[in-house]
Amino acid sequence: MTKNYTIHCKDERATAEAVRPLANAILTFYTPTPQKPQSLFISLDGDLGAGKTTATRYLLQAMGYGGKVKSPSYSLCEEHILDLPNKALRILHFDLYRMQSPEEWVEAGLLEHFTQSEHPTLCIIEWPEKAEHTLPTMDLSITLMHPNQQESDLARTVAIEASTVKGEAILQSISNRSR
Ligand code: ADP
Ligand code: MG
Repeated sequence: MTKNYTIHCKDERATAEAVRPLANAILTFYTPTPQKPQSLFISLDGDLGAGKTTATRYLLQAMGYGGKVKSPSYSLCEEHILDLPNKALRILHFDLYRMQSPEEWVEAGLLEHFTQSEHPTLCIIEWPEKAEHTLPTMDLSITLMHPNQQESDLARTVAIEASTVKGEAILQSISNRSR
Protein backbone atom coordinates (compact mmCIF):
# COMPACT_ATOMS: atom_id res chain seq x y z
CA MET A 1 0.00 0.00 0.00
CA THR A 2 1.14 3.56 -0.69
CA LYS A 3 1.91 5.47 2.49
CA ASN A 4 4.05 8.39 1.33
CA TYR A 5 4.10 10.68 -1.62
CA THR A 6 6.49 13.63 -2.01
CA ILE A 7 6.40 16.26 -4.71
CA HIS A 8 8.93 18.99 -5.35
CA CYS A 9 7.32 22.27 -6.40
CA LYS A 10 9.50 24.94 -7.95
CA ASP A 11 6.91 27.69 -7.54
CA GLU A 12 3.33 28.38 -6.52
CA ARG A 13 1.92 27.21 -9.82
CA ALA A 14 3.65 23.85 -9.26
CA THR A 15 2.01 23.63 -5.82
CA ALA A 16 -1.37 24.19 -7.49
CA GLU A 17 -0.58 21.34 -9.89
CA ALA A 18 0.74 19.11 -7.09
CA VAL A 19 -2.57 19.14 -5.21
CA ARG A 20 -4.69 18.50 -8.30
CA PRO A 21 -4.30 14.67 -8.24
CA LEU A 22 -5.18 14.74 -4.54
CA ALA A 23 -8.32 16.77 -5.33
CA ASN A 24 -9.36 14.18 -7.92
CA ALA A 25 -8.69 11.30 -5.53
CA ILE A 26 -10.77 13.00 -2.82
CA LEU A 27 -13.63 13.53 -5.26
CA THR A 28 -13.45 9.84 -6.21
CA PHE A 29 -13.56 8.95 -2.51
CA TYR A 30 -16.83 10.86 -2.10
CA THR A 31 -18.36 9.65 -5.36
CA PRO A 32 -20.17 6.45 -4.29
CA THR A 33 -23.25 7.11 -2.21
CA PRO A 34 -22.20 5.62 1.09
CA GLN A 35 -24.57 4.13 3.66
CA LYS A 36 -23.06 6.40 6.22
CA PRO A 37 -21.76 9.90 5.49
CA GLN A 38 -18.01 9.60 5.06
CA SER A 39 -15.60 11.92 6.72
CA LEU A 40 -11.99 12.51 5.87
CA PHE A 41 -9.41 14.26 8.05
CA ILE A 42 -6.39 15.96 6.56
CA SER A 43 -3.77 17.80 8.58
CA LEU A 44 -1.46 20.45 7.15
CA ASP A 45 1.91 20.90 8.78
CA GLY A 46 4.60 23.46 8.09
CA ASP A 47 5.88 26.79 9.37
CA LEU A 48 4.03 30.08 9.06
CA GLY A 49 4.09 31.05 5.40
CA ALA A 50 4.95 27.52 4.23
CA GLY A 51 1.81 27.51 2.08
CA LYS A 52 -0.79 25.53 4.07
CA THR A 53 -3.64 27.95 3.34
CA THR A 54 -2.46 28.47 -0.24
CA ALA A 55 -2.36 24.70 -0.86
CA THR A 56 -5.85 24.34 0.66
CA ARG A 57 -7.16 27.07 -1.61
CA TYR A 58 -5.77 25.29 -4.69
CA LEU A 59 -7.05 21.94 -3.44
CA LEU A 60 -10.60 23.24 -3.05
CA GLN A 61 -10.47 25.02 -6.41
CA ALA A 62 -9.25 21.82 -8.08
CA MET A 63 -12.21 20.03 -6.47
CA GLY A 64 -14.50 22.50 -8.23
CA TYR A 65 -15.17 24.92 -5.40
CA GLY A 66 -15.78 28.38 -6.85
CA GLY A 67 -16.15 30.41 -3.66
CA LYS A 68 -13.57 32.40 -1.76
CA VAL A 69 -11.22 30.41 0.50
CA LYS A 70 -10.24 32.78 3.29
CA SER A 71 -7.60 31.88 5.83
CA PRO A 72 -9.28 30.66 9.04
CA SER A 73 -6.47 32.14 11.15
CA TYR A 74 -8.86 34.55 12.92
CA SER A 75 -12.13 32.64 12.77
CA LEU A 76 -10.57 29.23 13.73
CA CYS A 77 -12.87 27.57 11.19
CA GLU A 78 -14.21 28.42 7.73
CA GLU A 79 -17.01 26.31 6.33
CA HIS A 80 -17.57 25.72 2.62
CA ILE A 81 -20.24 23.67 0.90
CA LEU A 82 -19.29 21.98 -2.36
CA ASP A 83 -22.15 20.65 -4.47
CA LEU A 84 -21.26 17.24 -5.86
CA PRO A 85 -23.50 15.39 -8.35
CA ASN A 86 -25.48 13.46 -5.73
CA LYS A 87 -24.69 15.23 -2.49
CA ALA A 88 -23.34 18.29 -0.77
CA LEU A 89 -19.87 17.96 0.68
CA ARG A 90 -19.21 19.98 3.77
CA ILE A 91 -15.65 21.27 3.96
CA LEU A 92 -14.36 22.54 7.29
CA HIS A 93 -11.04 24.35 7.14
CA PHE A 94 -9.46 24.95 10.54
CA ASP A 95 -6.46 26.96 11.64
CA LEU A 96 -5.77 26.21 15.29
CA TYR A 97 -2.66 28.39 15.59
CA ARG A 98 -4.27 30.91 17.94
CA MET A 99 -5.76 28.40 20.34
CA GLN A 100 -4.56 28.83 23.91
CA SER A 101 -5.40 25.28 24.99
CA PRO A 102 -6.19 22.05 23.17
CA GLU A 103 -9.65 22.00 24.72
CA GLU A 104 -10.60 25.40 23.34
CA TRP A 105 -12.12 24.13 20.13
CA VAL A 106 -13.85 21.25 21.91
CA GLU A 107 -15.41 23.75 24.35
CA ALA A 108 -16.44 25.95 21.43
CA GLY A 109 -18.39 22.94 20.08
CA LEU A 110 -16.29 22.73 16.93
CA LEU A 111 -15.16 19.14 17.34
CA GLU A 112 -18.73 17.82 17.74
CA HIS A 113 -19.64 19.91 14.78
CA PHE A 114 -17.86 17.49 12.47
CA THR A 115 -17.63 14.18 14.31
CA GLN A 116 -21.42 14.06 14.55
CA SER A 117 -22.10 15.45 11.13
CA GLU A 118 -24.92 13.93 9.11
CA HIS A 119 -23.24 15.11 5.93
CA PRO A 120 -20.12 13.88 4.20
CA THR A 121 -17.38 16.06 5.62
CA LEU A 122 -13.85 16.95 4.60
CA CYS A 123 -11.93 18.38 7.48
CA ILE A 124 -8.65 20.21 6.80
CA ILE A 125 -6.65 21.30 9.81
CA GLU A 126 -3.72 23.72 9.93
CA TRP A 127 -1.66 23.59 13.14
CA PRO A 128 -3.14 20.26 14.33
CA GLU A 129 -0.48 20.03 17.07
CA LYS A 130 -2.33 22.81 18.94
CA ALA A 131 -5.24 20.41 19.49
CA GLU A 132 -2.95 17.66 20.87
CA HIS A 133 -4.93 14.58 22.00
CA THR A 134 -8.37 16.00 21.15
CA LEU A 135 -8.03 15.21 17.44
CA PRO A 136 -8.99 11.93 15.77
CA THR A 137 -6.34 10.12 13.70
CA MET A 138 -5.68 12.03 10.51
CA ASP A 139 -6.30 10.05 7.32
CA LEU A 140 -3.67 12.11 5.50
CA SER A 141 -0.96 14.43 6.78
CA ILE A 142 0.45 16.95 4.35
CA THR A 143 3.72 18.71 5.18
CA LEU A 144 4.87 21.80 3.30
CA MET A 145 8.51 22.82 3.54
CA HIS A 146 11.06 25.12 1.98
CA PRO A 147 13.42 22.51 0.50
CA ASN A 148 16.74 24.19 1.36
CA GLN A 149 18.40 27.58 1.48
CA GLN A 150 19.99 27.30 -1.96
CA GLU A 151 16.61 27.09 -3.63
CA SER A 152 14.32 29.94 -4.56
CA ASP A 153 11.91 31.35 -1.96
CA LEU A 154 9.12 30.04 -4.12
CA ALA A 155 10.14 26.37 -3.94
CA ARG A 156 8.38 23.93 -1.62
CA THR A 157 8.25 20.23 -1.03
CA VAL A 158 4.80 18.81 -0.47
CA ALA A 159 4.86 15.48 1.36
CA ILE A 160 1.66 13.51 1.82
CA GLU A 161 1.52 10.65 4.30
CA ALA A 162 -1.34 8.24 4.95
CA SER A 163 -2.11 6.97 8.45
CA THR A 164 -5.39 5.12 7.92
CA VAL A 165 -6.85 2.66 5.42
CA LYS A 166 -8.92 5.50 3.90
CA GLY A 167 -5.81 7.66 3.55
CA GLU A 168 -3.88 4.80 1.95
CA ALA A 169 -6.67 4.21 -0.55
CA ILE A 170 -6.52 7.88 -1.57
CA LEU A 171 -2.73 7.81 -1.99
CA GLN A 172 -3.03 4.57 -3.93
CA SER A 173 -5.51 6.18 -6.28
CA ILE A 174 -3.10 9.12 -6.81
CA SER A 175 -0.22 6.81 -7.69
CA ASN A 176 -2.42 4.67 -9.99
CA ARG A 177 -3.42 7.81 -11.91
CA SER A 178 0.14 9.10 -12.25
CA ARG A 179 1.40 5.84 -13.73
P1 ADP B 1 0.56 29.20 5.81
O1 ADP B 1 -0.92 28.94 5.72
O2 ADP B 1 1.39 27.94 5.76
O3 ADP B 1 0.95 30.07 6.98
P2 ADP B 1 0.10 30.80 3.44
O4 ADP B 1 -0.48 29.85 2.47
O5 ADP B 1 -0.81 31.75 4.15
O6 ADP B 1 1.00 30.00 4.50
O7 ADP B 1 1.22 31.68 2.74
C1 ADP B 1 2.14 31.12 1.84
C2 ADP B 1 2.73 32.27 1.03
O8 ADP B 1 3.81 31.79 0.23
C3 ADP B 1 1.69 32.87 0.09
O9 ADP B 1 1.91 34.27 0.04
C4 ADP B 1 2.04 32.24 -1.26
O10 ADP B 1 1.69 33.11 -2.33
C5 ADP B 1 3.56 32.08 -1.13
N1 ADP B 1 4.17 31.04 -1.95
C6 ADP B 1 5.27 31.21 -2.70
N2 ADP B 1 5.64 30.09 -3.32
C7 ADP B 1 4.75 29.14 -2.94
C8 ADP B 1 4.62 27.76 -3.27
N3 ADP B 1 5.48 27.11 -4.08
N4 ADP B 1 3.59 27.08 -2.71
C9 ADP B 1 2.74 27.72 -1.87
N5 ADP B 1 2.81 29.02 -1.53
C10 ADP B 1 3.81 29.74 -2.06
MG1 MG C 1 -2.49 29.41 7.06
